[in-house]
Order: sequence, then C-alpha cells, then structure tokens
Amino acid sequence: MALIVQKYGGTSVGSTDRIKNVAKRVAKWKAQGHDLIVVPSAMSGETNRLIALAKDISATPSPRELDVIASTGEQVTIGLLAMALQEEGLQAKSYTGAQVKVLTDSSHTKARILQIDDERIRADLAQGYVVVVAGFQGVDGDGNITTLGRGGSDTSAVALAAALKADECQIYTDVDGVYTTDPRVVPEARKLDTITFEEMLEMASLGSKVLQIRSVEFAGKYKVKLRVLSSFQDEGEGTLITVEEDKNMEQAIISGIAFSRDEAKLTVLGVPDRPGIAYQILGPIADANIDVDMIIQNVGRDGTTDFSFTVNRNEHNRALAVLNSVQEHIGAREILGDAKICKVSAVGVGMRSHPGIASQMFRTLAEEGINIQMISTSEIKISVVIDEKYLELAVRVLHRTFGLDQAA
Ligand code: ASP
Ligand code: MG
Repeated sequence: MALIVQKYGGTSVGSTDRIKNVAKRVAKWKAQGHDLIVVPSAMSGETNRLIALAKDISATPSPRELDVIASTGEQVTIGLLAMALQEEGLQAKSYTGAQVKVLTDSSHTKARILQIDDERIRADLAQGYVVVVAGFQGVDGDGNITTLGRGGSDTSAVALAAALKADECQIYTDVDGVYTTDPRVVPEARKLDTITFEEMLEMASLGSKVLQIRSVEFAGKYKVKLRVLSSFQDEGEGTLITVEEDKNMEQAIISGIAFSRDEAKLTVLGVPDRPGIAYQILGPIADANIDVDMIIQNVGRDGTTDFSFTVNRNEHNRALAVLNSVQEHIGAREILGDAKICKVSAVGVGMRSHPGIASQMFRTLAEEGINIQMISTSEIKISVVIDEKYLELAVRVLHRTFGLDQAA
C-alpha cells in the first residue's frame, strides 16, 4: 500500500465525462489498497476565460482580485471530482487551498508555497477518504487567496507529495510522458522512460510545457518521486523523473532538443568600451522588470563595443523603448531589435563526460546553412539563437544527429 498524489491537468478534467473517467481511474488505484490525494486543475480553457473576464473590467486588474477570480476554476473541479468519486462508491472530500491550508507568501498571481498543513488530510486518509485538493491556489498569512502562477497545479501536487511524504507524485496530462522533443515538430520524437531532474528543469525552462518549472525544482529539492503519465491511456509507465545516479548509462548522451519561439534580441551598437557599460545597459532593463536571458558583448575595437541580449518576445517593444530612452546617456551609436529569432537547445547530462557535443551541434547547423547568432552553455545544455524561420529544420537535424529519432 502506498500514498500517491495524482494531479490531473485541464484537458483531463475538461468535461464532466472526463471527470467521471478520472474518478474511475482513481477508484482503480484505491481498489488496489492505495491512499490517494487528487489534485485537479481547472477545466481546460477556464483559467483563461476567468482572466479574460477580469481584463474586460480592468486593463490593470488588481493582482489580489485576479487571484480571487482565477482560483475559482479549481474550486469547481474539486467539487465535481469529489462527487464523481462518490458516484463510484468511494468516500471523498474536497478542499480548497485555504481550507487545507496551503500557506503561501503574498506575491499574488505568482505566490510561493511556504507550508502545508497535513493534519486534516491525514485524518481523512486514515478514515478511508480520497482527498481532493484544489491545485494552483493557496492562502497567505493574512487570509488572502493566492495563486501560484500559470500551470501551478503541478507545483501544488508536488508540494503536497513532499509535505505528506507520498511514495509517488503522478502528473496525468494529455501526453503519455516527456518526449525527446515536440512530436508536432519531429514526428520521430520518442517518449523517454526516464529523465533527470536537471534535464527536466532545463527542458522546462527552455520551453517544454509538460511541467511547471517550479514543480520540478520542488521535486528535486524534496526528492519527490515524480512521474508524468497520460490520463487517456490505461497502459504505460509514462516518464519517471530521476536523480542522475539512477539514470541508465546506456542512454543517449543528449536526452532532448528543446526550443522556444518566444524570444527577441536587442543589440546596442557602438557603446564606449569602459567599465560599467553592461550595468548601464542592463540596469534600466532590470528596473523595468524585464528578464534577460542570453547576453554577449563583443571584443572592443577603437574604444567601442557592441552588446546583445535576449528577452521574452512579449517584452521586446518595452525593452526597445527602455534602450531608446537611455541611448544618448550611454553614448550608443544605434539600437536594434529583432523579434524574429528563436532559441534551440540540446540538453543532456551525458555532456559532462562527452566532449565535442558543441562542435557536433555547430557542424550540423552549418551543414544546413543555418547561421548562429548567439550561443550559451551550461554543464548540461547548449543553446543557440537562430533566425526563427529555421526553427523546425534545426530541431529536426539536431534530433537526428544526436541519435534521438525513433528506430523506423
Ligand atoms: N488552472 C491553472 C492554469 O491554467 C493552473 C494549472 O492548470 O495548473 O494555469
Ligand atoms: Mg498544466
């Protein structure tokens, strides 16, 4: 007998029929003698609908009120799911985040979980209840409703698993696991049986949307056994997120090719090459609360240098405006923006022990005539910025080069 936390994503609870199916699946696990905590998201599209309602009223909605509204999607699904479980003949009880309670800080719309009370849940489990807890939401120390950021019910589930020392946290979604890359771009993409936390973290931060990044960080930190599975299939072990030592050494050096289209590049040309210039350029960007990803500064020549960095594409115009406003002050010759770029990355812990991965990556792109505009690396990742029109091509050839294509 094990204690299992199961999280069901928006499509998995997207209709009352699907909620009934989830109840049937939970009932099967329960019949095997397991204790279950179930964490549903809102029905698919519901959180977007709620946020749109708020934006209809106010272009700059108060984050506190936004949380009051956005959190209701999950309140509906916990009630419906608890009822569906009762229809299956099970004892079930639903709780909102505040009822549990899931204590968070007060950063509305992106709150962090501080602590979870396990008392009530444990008491219910001991009496044979399936406990249904709303994902995505919590409550701060003053009793204000908070939400954890989009996709946050993954983090709710992992945090509950950590707090209750669950044996496994299962994330049920509309795909059957984590893939080597997006199968819509590369049909030969394969499902991975295992991936390490670090790789998953890179994949998530590079645009793979299977898990919310914070949930992976949390699971790594608290050593939660985390598994991604399909809620539409009965078979399959999904993908297990592991610690590195457990990884099968026979596995490929590269685990996946990630990509992101949401990128834009800003270039500052001809700035004086002197101490403090990077700070003068990026300080105002940071003050405007714009996140910077990759940064490069060219070798100085004739006392001036060029400086480029990337930001999320929806911050492109704002970043450009900030730079234009400081252009004179920093003495830049010209400011350029390019919102037609993308980022493609190879990820794999095998890189640590296998040199030459970067050169193999660059050769492959060169053979396709794809120009690399920027490069950044970490121990287990190499990312390049390229023209967005080459995105699909680059992902396909890299996927093949690193031996990730499915055997035909
Ligand atoms: N319902 C929330 C969202 O759409 C949380 C989640 O689905 O994980 O972002
Ligand atoms: Mg999700």
